[in-house]
Amino acid sequence: MRQKAVIGMSDMIESFIEEARAVSLSVAAVTFERLAARGAEWTGPCPQMGGTDAYAVNVIKGVWNCRKCGTGGHDAISLAAHECGYDLSARAGFLGACAAVLGRPVPDGENSESAEEQREREDRLAKARAEAEARAATAAKHKQYYRTKAMNKARGIYFGAALVRPGEGRTLREYLRLRTGHVMPEGVFENIRCDLRHTYWHGIDQFGRPAHIYSGPAMIAPFVDLSGKVLGCHETWIDLKVKPKRRPEILDDDGATLPTKKMQGLHKGMIIPVLGDLTLKRWVVAEGIENVAAVAGLERFRSDTFYCAAGSLGNLAGPAANREKHPIQKRIDKRGVERSVFVDGPLPKPDADPASAFQAPEHVEELVLIGDGDSEPLMTAFAMKRAELRLSAPGRVVTTDWPPKTAGDFSELCMDGADG
Ligand SMILES: [Zn+2]
Repeated sequence: MRQKAVIGMSDMIESFIEEARAVSLSVAAVTFERLAARGAEWTGPCPQMGGTDAYAVNVIKGVWNCRKCGTGGHDAISLAAHECGYDLSARAGFLGACAAVLGRPVPDGENSESAEEQREREDRLAKARAEAEARAATAAKHKQYYRTKAMNKARGIYFGAALVRPGEGRTLREYLRLRTGHVMPEGVFENIRCDLRHTYWHGIDQFGRPAHIYSGPAMIAPFVDLSGKVLGCHETWIDLKVKPKRRPEILDDDGATLPTKKMQGLHKGMIIPVLGDLTLKRWVVAEGIENVAAVAGLERFRSDTFYCAAGSLGNLAGPAANREKHPIQKRIDKRGVERSVFVDGPLPKPDADPASAFQAPEHVEELVLIGDGDSEPLMTAFAMKRAELRLSAPGRVVTTDWPPKTAGDFSELCMDGADG
């Protein structure tokens, strides 16, 4: 009779490790419930450091990473170590991670972590989690504080600006006429206000206080939520003498041109009402105030339409599902190497936060989006496609109107007739 082969303990450990190594990342992602509801990539809080989306597991690419910890990997064992707080540089930690992958204890108790080590690891993990939660709570409180402060400041700017009554506000009326080619109806000035000596703050002075570097007339428009409450404002400085945009040249200390439009308070997810009421069933939305006002003029200020501006292309289009390589554009990096240029793609990000871009209320049946020929064509085309897709709804027609090829935008198209 032949003697039965004896398998040594070290062999058992080795085969245990081999077995854990053979487990794919996607299987471990199932074990730890890290599968995305949609798409290939799950994102969420780090099990140790918290946060919201620092931790990502992509089963298609077979990779995970955590921005909070600054770690990542391609295998199940490293993922398990991150999940359970094991230190892979220690033998006991490595075996613990293998055990977590396989869902059964290490065959030889000698090699695995002691009860005390396990308690220490679990304590460490619990403490790190509690600290992360406390930090997140403090950060959220601070964020809310600054948000409220910025919102109140913006409301102060808007309500502090002069209401333009019939016969008043020549500068603002003239600015809009020159930029749109149309005399604005009084309804526009129920929303848009004017401040004749509006301060431009930029940088800090020698005493560390905010510095005012310019003062002049400005158009002050509100950013409102879908109930019409003012939560932010949009400032546009005006200088009627400066053609063609009728805006002053404001320079910083180094002589660089500063933007003559600013947004204050809440603006993402908000809209700038220009003419008409939010309750109307037809909405026309452009990126800029001047553009939507020009379109309103071309349409003879339809009484069945709410004309509004998103304030920025991002707020109009919303976040993208992915970025796409630009077929033509290239950029040269710091080392002089030609690189591809990526633009936000045409598909909206699934499950995007509704606060990340303006929303159209359910009652809107016709939504006309105004394209802008001023910017890079592919980027803009993708952005408008995203807006169309994310804002479409049953029983609603969503279209995009583009200015003729010869004009940059509708404002420019109408301006030619108004210059004088
Ligand atoms: Zn982490």
